[in-house]
Amino acid sequence: MSDIKDISLAASGWDKIKWVESYMPVLKLIREEFRRTTPFAGMRISTSIHLEAKTAYLALTLREGGADVHVTGCNPLSTQDDVAAALASDGMEVFARHGVTDEEYDAHLRMALAHKPHLMIDDGGDLTNLIHGDCRGYGECLLGGCEETTTGVHRLIAREKAGLLDYPMINVNDADCKHLFDNRYGTGQSTLDGIMNSTNLIIAGKTVVIAGYGWCGRGVAMRVHGMGGLVIVTEIDPVKGIEAVMDGFRVMKMDDAAPLGDLFITVTGCSDVITGEHFKVMKDGVLLANAGHFDVEINKNDLAAQAVEVWQRKPNITGYRMADGRILNLLAEGRLVNLAAGNGHPAEIMDMSFSIQARCLEYIAKNHKKLENRVYQVPREIDMDVAKLKLAAVGAETDTLTPEQEKYLGLVL
Ligand code: NAD
Ligand code: SAH
Repeated sequence: MSDIKDISLAASGWDKIKWVESYMPVLKLIREEFRRTTPFAGMRISTSIHLEAKTAYLALTLREGGADVHVTGCNPLSTQDDVAAALASDGMEVFARHGVTDEEYDAHLRMALAHKPHLMIDDGGDLTNLIHGDCRGYGECLLGGCEETTTGVHRLIAREKAGLLDYPMINVNDADCKHLFDNRYGTGQSTLDGIMNSTNLIIAGKTVVIAGYGWCGRGVAMRVHGMGGLVIVTEIDPVKGIEAVMDGFRVMKMDDAAPLGDLFITVTGCSDVITGEHFKVMKDGVLLANAGHFDVEINKNDLAAQAVEVWQRKPNITGYRMADGRILNLLAEGRLVNLAAGNGHPAEIMDMSFSIQARCLEYIAKNHKKLENRVYQVPREIDMDVAKLKLAAVGAETDTLTPEQEKYLGLVL
């Protein structure tokens, strides 16, 4: 039995799903193919991904391929109740509600696993942790799964190194058609969308401190710069630091950036990037947002400990009044601002990420007998196939090497 907020919201959820379908041509093609080939016939799939319209379209695609799909979210604030209702109204088992407590969130993950999946998709590692811990029994039919995001992949690799990975996992994040577009352009646009949507303030002229200059950080910096913000980057990796300098940005320690910023955006995957000492020197009215991983990049406990008053100023904005009268504004409770205060990455981006997901699950379904309990890269042909289909969908074409060129490049003898 699904656990959702309100089934009567389904019509609005379907409108959203139909809208994104028009902008996800590659996944649509895969869906039509799956209808004919049914690669998941007789299989059960569990997914833990931000439950909004593009994810719903992925779930429908997997079901079209013959799977019994059980769905949950991967973040208490990113579930859209109308989308959850749409899927449930169509007979899918859905365990997700917006704004659940940590305990309810955990219970939903367990419910999504209870049908003992053959395949799974995780985003951040929460399902994986449960199957390797308390819910080990639910993993007994598992042939393998896919991980969507950078931090989840780091955790998987640590698990593999320790010899503690119980089934094969594919690292979707590192596919070119995933991180080059999703982490960079997707996070770049949707982070600003979430911030602007909740604050209704201007980016131009603001000093924006971006913590982390990886794929996400570069995307966010590029877009902030394009909108007239003054970018300061903080990093721990000297190569990324110098890259940010060469891209034209100031690079300094967070201790030095803290008094300068008007808007802070963390995208590191690390914890305690902004802490108590930083809050003490920040300007009145600053905005604090996280688009990295979980709600640990901005230390909320330190913030609460220094505040004399904490109140909800607007949806997705919590005000923290300091003893000296300054107000610091935390967006989306320090959780992913692009998903908790917005709709996440645009449909055209998730078209690629989720096409890779669909193809990788199909790959595991076909090849599981050959796979070991390791973290695998996405097969190159899947990455290239998605790139070619996307290129065709946007009406672009690349050249093809002539036999002479192949010889010249040393690709053939
Ligand atoms: P990445 O590894 O490419 O980049 C992270 C960067 O942060 C690295 O350059 C690292 O040196 C730096 N860093 C680490 N600790 C730091 C610290 N304490 N201070 C300053 N810099 C620090 O990873 P990525 O692909 O950019 O992903 C970053 C995070 O965002 C991950 O947690 C990932 O799961 C998440 N993510 C979020 C979204 C989204 O929709 N919001 C999308 C993709 C990835
Ligand atoms: N559960 C963690 C995981 C980080 S999520 C957390 O909530 O903190 C980061 C991932 O969200 C990215 O890798 C990206 O692919 C995914 N994402 C971004 N926009 C999305 C969208 N619109 N729908 C589904 N997933 C999305």
